[in-house]
Amino acid sequence: MAFDYDDTNIFARILRGEIPCDKVAESDHALAFRDIRPQAPVHVLVIPKGRYVSFDDFAANASDAEIVDFMRLCARVCASEGVGLDDGNQGFRAIANTGPHGVQEVPHYHLHILGGRVMGPMLP
Ligand code: 5GP
Repeated sequence: MAFDYDDTNIFARILRGEIPCDKVAESDHALAFRDIRPQAPVHVLVIPKGRYVSFDDFAANASDAEIVDFMRLCARVCASEGVGLDDGNQGFRAIANTGPHGVQEVPHYHLHILGGRVMGPMLP
């Protein structure tokens, strides 16, 4: 499976330090930062440091180490932001918009972690 990665995308520029971000957490292979247009009291984006366009690119082509590291960073974010289900917290929504039909704006894989309020129903 071939995916064309655009090195000029905004998250690539954040990873290169060309644009600032409000960092929440970082690991060997992933970075978590606050969304610039938050849709909920907690709205964190978790991105791999590798050059992956989308969820399916990451799932197909990232190494096991990258995937485990990414998921563990997500868990750390959920715990530190108080939105995981541990310690009686109330949960969150994790979304990976993918491609034109998923209305993905930035072509570098990212997982939205949204919490701090009750989410509305999923859109069709
Ligand atoms: P997508 O529609 O691709 O899933 O979502 C991209 C997200 O990136 C949007 O929620 C948007 O607000 C966020 N975003 C776009 N540009 C920037 C930026 O420069 N910095 C940060 N922190 N978030 C951004």
